Amino acid sequence: APPPPQPVVVMMPTQGMGHLIPMIEFAKRLVRHRDNLRVKFIIPTDSPPTKAQNAVLRSLPSTISHTFLPPVSLSDHPIETTKIETIMALTIIRSFPSLRSALHDLITTNTSVVVSAFVVDLFGTDAFDVAVEFNIPRYIFYPSTATCLSFFLNLPKFDQSVHCEFRELAEPIKIPGCVPMHGKDLLDPVQDRSNDAYKWLLHIVTRYREADGIIENSFMELEPGPVKELLRDEPGRPPYYPVGPLVNLDCGRTGESGEESSVCLEWLDEQPAGSVLFVSFGSGGTLPSAQIDELAHGLEMSEQRFLWVARSPNDKLANGSYFSAASQADPLGFLPKGFLERTKGRGFVVSSWAPQPQILAHESTGGFLSHCGWNSTLESVVSGVPFIAWPLFAEQRMNAVLLTDEAKVALRPNVSKNGLVEREEIASVVKCLMEGEDGKKLRYRMKDLKEAAERALSENGSSTNHISHLALKWSDYSKTKTNTVPN
Ligand code: UDP
Repeated sequence: APPPPQPVVVMMPTQGMGHLIPMIEFAKRLVRHRDNLRVKFIIPTDSPPTKAQNAVLRSLPSTISHTFLPPVSLSDHPIETTKIETIMALTIIRSFPSLRSALHDLITTNTSVVVSAFVVDLFGTDAFDVAVEFNIPRYIFYPSTATCLSFFLNLPKFDQSVHCEFRELAEPIKIPGCVPMHGKDLLDPVQDRSNDAYKWLLHIVTRYREADGIIENSFMELEPGPVKELLRDEPGRPPYYPVGPLVNLDCGRTGESGEESSVCLEWLDEQPAGSVLFVSFGSGGTLPSAQIDELAHGLEMSEQRFLWVARSPNDKLANGSYFSAASQADPLGFLPKGFLERTKGRGFVVSSWAPQPQILAHESTGGFLSHCGWNSTLESVVSGVPFIAWPLFAEQRMNAVLLTDEAKVALRPNVSKNGLVEREEIASVVKCLMEGEDGKKLRYRMKDLKEAAERALSENGSSTNHISHLALKWSDYSKTKTNTVPN
């Protein structure tokens, strides 16, 4: 008998390195489990691919391929006022024709291929319509917390029962399985229910229950409450696979901006163990100029060592570099006068992109001032580095609450009445984390979490078991099932 057709898993991430990176990590582990399995990334776009995207995609093994769909036009939506959630939702829908033809080509040009799963990310459920046309099972890869996933699954209910803005609620919201959460800490797109971004999100999450499974990047010890809740059988709720913590630790020293990257790792090599605070706001986070000024002075006043990925200020948007992951204009000209000279030796500033996972894994790194993006959080957890939580956008405030109140591995600086975290406050939390008693406690707690993460990733750990279950299911699919090709 001829061999069964080649099983292929199609993955479709929406914009943002924070969505692409963990999906790639998931893909790498899948193909390691079953050597007949292939993964194909089909990537919708609204602009040409960035350097950072190309760099990670080109470094993949031959069992994982990718194709960028042609950029859709969003010229009917003004770039300054359209929220990223709306942009992602529209990009998906407007990519349907090219997605259809990519799937068609994949299935028909090689008759011995069967697509055994179509995996979208948290904003991609509309594309389920196309998967159905081809008779492909549908999955969601959720690159954030179980807390946020539990909120998404219950948002249609909250939408019915809450009649004001969530931030106006007097009592914290009770998300099943989670610590109480104030409305103002919920993720950005639900903060203005009249905005299109909210309507899109509500529509997208209403379709979560159509999925054949939801894969999520967390693990029991980090979020016991919500992970337990989601693992519970509930009629109508798709099976849940917490595969975390998936982070990329095996990349070499030459990343995206090779030269700059290796120079900062060499600088770290020269610092004492646990002495450096790493400061970064993710792939797209930006601060207003007044806040950059306070941060620079605060770092200087703390007298601690630091490594800072400092992007150009953006006075309007907290996610000012989300689609480009780069600093514009003069790379460091916006820093306070004389700052670089005064902190020379003790501080190191990078202008756009740093090899973050390697920095966090480096023994000189002792703390992480972070925007609490979920990938950054997990990278810090697997390296056992405690946080200063400085959330900016998306679901980052929810993550900060989780890290500070539930996991207790983060300090959270106070924001003053003028909306800024002031230099004295910064200097004081930085000192407290790096050399204070509180910092010590957080470090102990972080050590436990690091060990739990190692167990999850070990041979019989939760992450490995869930991934191997899915790999088996998807590789066997082609033995008995086929796709359909719509006319
Ligand atoms: N990242 C990096 N270097 C940088 C900035 C970001 O390697 O200078 C990586 C980081 O390690 C993480 C991802 O980009 O894997 C950022 O994802 P996260 O979910 O933390 O935040 P987002 O960028 O989505 O806000």
